[in-house]
Amino acid sequence: MSWRVLVLTAVAALAGAGPLLGAQTFGSWLDPYRGNAQRLIAAAQENDFAWQRLAELTDTYGARPAWSENLSRAIVWAAEAMKNDGLENVRTERVMVPRWVRGLESAEIVEPPRHPIVMLGLGGTVATPPGGLEADVLVVSNFDDLRVKRAHVPGRIVLFDVAYTTYAETMSYRTGGARLAAEYGAAAVLVRSVGPIGLRTAHTGSVNYAPGQPQIPAAAIAVEDANRIARLATAGRRVRVRLVTSGHMEPDVASANVVAEITGRERPEEIVLLGGHLDSWDVGTGASDDGAGCIITWEALRLMKKLGLRPRRTVRLVLWTNEEHGMHGATAYGVKYAHAAGNHVLAIESDSGVFAPASLGFSGSAAGRLVVSQIATLLAPLGLQEIGAGGGGPDIDPIAQAGNVPALAYLGDASRLFQIHHTAADTVERIAPEELSKAAAAIAAITYVVAEMPERIPR
Ligand SMILES: [Zn+2]
Repeated sequence: MSWRVLVLTAVAALAGAGPLLGAQTFGSWLDPYRGNAQRLIAAAQENDFAWQRLAELTDTYGARPAWSENLSRAIVWAAEAMKNDGLENVRTERVMVPRWVRGLESAEIVEPPRHPIVMLGLGGTVATPPGGLEADVLVVSNFDDLRVKRAHVPGRIVLFDVAYTTYAETMSYRTGGARLAAEYGAAAVLVRSVGPIGLRTAHTGSVNYAPGQPQIPAAAIAVEDANRIARLATAGRRVRVRLVTSGHMEPDVASANVVAEITGRERPEEIVLLGGHLDSWDVGTGASDDGAGCIITWEALRLMKKLGLRPRRTVRLVLWTNEEHGMHGATAYGVKYAHAAGNHVLAIESDSGVFAPASLGFSGSAAGRLVVSQIATLLAPLGLQEIGAGGGGPDIDPIAQAGNVPALAYLGDASRLFQIHHTAADTVERIAPEELSKAAAAIAAITYVVAEMPERIPR
C-alpha cells in the first residue's frame, strides 16, 4: 500500500467512513525500506565515529563565531572531510557576515564592598566608556515591573532578574531588555543568565538594539550573582556596580555555508535538506550548539555512502554559517535556492542538542504528519517513534517558508541543553557517544526513507 492510499483511507476513517486500518496494514508500505533503515541504524550505532568527529571539530577549532578564523578553518576542514567521505558536489557557498569583537570586559559590585561578578557581554553589545561605567542597580522582575519603575531608570544599571521558564520566553529579556531599558534612560543592562540552574556560569547570546534608539551596554551575569544583587536590593541595600564592556563592530567578513550531496538516482532535482550550524558563540566550543547538529546530519550522508545507498532523490547536507548572530547563512541559502524552494521535499534541522530524552518534532500538514509518523515507526528500536510538534528551526525556516516545505527537528532534552547553552561549558564531554549515535541513526533512517519512497511527503 502506498502512503497515498494510506492517507486517503485514514482520512476517510477519521471522517467516519470506515474503521481505521490495523497497525500491520498501516506499516506495510514501508516494507521495502525496512532493511536499509535497519542497516543505517545499526551502522550509526556500531561505534563512536560521530562522537570522535565531534571531538575533532571542537578540540581542533574550538569556539567558532561566524567572523572568526576558527570557523574559516573549520569550514575548510569540513569540506575536505566530506570529500574524503565520498560525498558529492562538496562546495562552500560564500556568505558575508558581521564581525563583532568582544574585547576586555568585567563586572563587579563596588557597594557593598567589592565582589566580582561572573559575566559575559551579550553578543553585539556596545562598549562602555573607556574605563567602564559605575551606577546603582535597579532590579526588575519583568518588562511590566520595568514600566512601573520607569521613573527610577535614568542613569541606573537595570538588572532583569527573571527566573528561567522556557528558553523562548526567558530569552526575550536577553534580546529585548536593553531596548526598553535604553528607552527609559538606563545606563546599561544586566540580564540574569538564561538557563534553568546556576553553576556560576554566564550565558551569552544576541542582544537586539532598536534602529535609531540609544544603544547601551548589555551583559549576562551568573544566576548566583543575580540572586545576590536581588537579595541585597530586597533588603533595602544600595547596590552599585562597575561594568566594563568593549564590544564593537568591525567591517563584514566573508564566511560560507558548507554543502555536500548524494545525488538522487531518479529525481535529482528533488531535495531532502538537512543540517545544522557550524558557527558557535565565542565561548565554550559549541559542542551541543551546534557541533552535534552538524555531525549527526552529516552522518546520514556518510552512512548512506558507506552502505552504498543512493536514494531516488538528492540528499543535501548544509552546515550553515552565522546562525548565532543574524542567521546570515540561512538567509543566503533561502535566497540562493528560492527558485527551487518547491523542490525541497523535507527540511531537517538539528539545533537542540542530543540530550536524552530526545524526540522528533514535525511541522507541516496533517497528511504530511501522518506519513512521517508512519516512517517513524522504523525508529521504535531507538525509542523515537513518536512525532511531536515543533519541526523547523532558524536555519531551515527561510527555505521552508518559501517552498511550504514540511520540516522536521531532532529535539534533545531542553532542561539539560540550557544548563550549558551559550556558555564556556558547552564542550564535548557533556555529550554521551550513545546519545549522539542514536540521533545520527534516527536522522539517517528517516532521511533515507523520505529520499527513497516513490511519492513526496504531502505538503
Ligand atoms: Zn544553535
